[in-house]
Amino acid sequence: MMGKKDILSMTLSVLETELTSLGEKKFRAGQLYSWLHDKRAVSFAECSDLPKSLIERLGEEYEIKRLKIIRKLESELDGTIKYLYEFPDGERAETVLMSYKHGNSICISSQVGCKMGCSFCASTKAGFVRDLLPSEMLLQIYETERDSGRKVESLVLMGIGEPLDNFDNVMTFLGLLSSEKGKNMSLRHVSLSTCGIVPRIRELADMKTGLTLSVSLHAPTDEKRNAIMPINRRYDTTELTEACKYYFAQTGRRISFEFALIDGVNDDKETAKELVKLLRPLSPCHVNLIPVNEIREREYRKSSKVREFQKFLTDSGINATVRRTLGADINAACGQLRRDSAGK
Ligand code: SAH
Repeated sequence: MMGKKDILSMTLSVLETELTSLGEKKFRAGQLYSWLHDKRAVSFAECSDLPKSLIERLGEEYEIKRLKIIRKLESELDGTIKYLYEFPDGERAETVLMSYKHGNSICISSQVGCKMGCSFCASTKAGFVRDLLPSEMLLQIYETERDSGRKVESLVLMGIGEPLDNFDNVMTFLGLLSSEKGKNMSLRHVSLSTCGIVPRIRELADMKTGLTLSVSLHAPTDEKRNAIMPINRRYDTTELTEACKYYFAQTGRRISFEFALIDGVNDDKETAKELVKLLRPLSPCHVNLIPVNEIREREYRKSSKVREFQKFLTDSGINATVRRTLGADINAACGQLRRDSAGK
């Protein structure tokens, strides 16, 4: 038997096609879409302005997915909340809700596990399982808003997974997120982080979505980047920076480069000089320095030269800031998210 259709992954125009093929008027799709994405109905029975017969039919053929909260940890330092969610098939991934003065931001996962294999990142250690569906990305936001009572104003696609390796689902998800009848979030409030899947960066540039592209750089030369990020053997730093120039040219959005400083690996003066050389032609851009977050699988230690490194970049005309770490007491920081929370 075929499973029920995943209605939360359907855009308004898909929903219109579905409902007209059921013999319904097109406007019903708009009503239903608002129930699902604005009023956040969890059952068709709640959709009180739809005819009874349609509600019944919907229940037979479609499902409104939910996520289960398996674990919830709230930081005592800064109110950050980390959720471990379970998807309908039993797979799991983490989501983080961060509160800043200017509002709440959520960090969601785009895949269960990750194929990219970056040596410093916990999300990739247990391997890759599957892509997340548009509904499963959206539900990380909906369930988090529901449970926390906080309203999410901005989004970072910086959790588990490589978003550009799940391109179509991520794009559908962003369409749902920004739809007027739904959460209506401007994509200017979204940052998408990638390890550097070059052809997809170019494709995204052509789409001119308005989102901010964050590129996980972490090393300025091919030799150094190959050693910690396997993706660099596929798309090297020259191809990557060319794609970044293209992104800026197409969108006018300044690129943000992430650079996790690891003691004795990439925090020396020589590396800083190489970084300036690589990024100078990309100006205006922004470097986000992150003292590496320690994970149990590796001996990497936080650099003690973060301020020095930052000063060198700034003095050389490259805009650089140090990222504040949130949720340090609950392992909720960059690179610490996991597919499950076993052994933590
Ligand atoms: N796959 C995407 C999305 C992951 S985002 C990407 O690679 O960008 C997570 C961010 O945290 C990335 O910039 C990643 O490189 C960084 N990161 C991973 N492990 C880290 C660690 N241990 N300390 C600090 N940052 C880390």
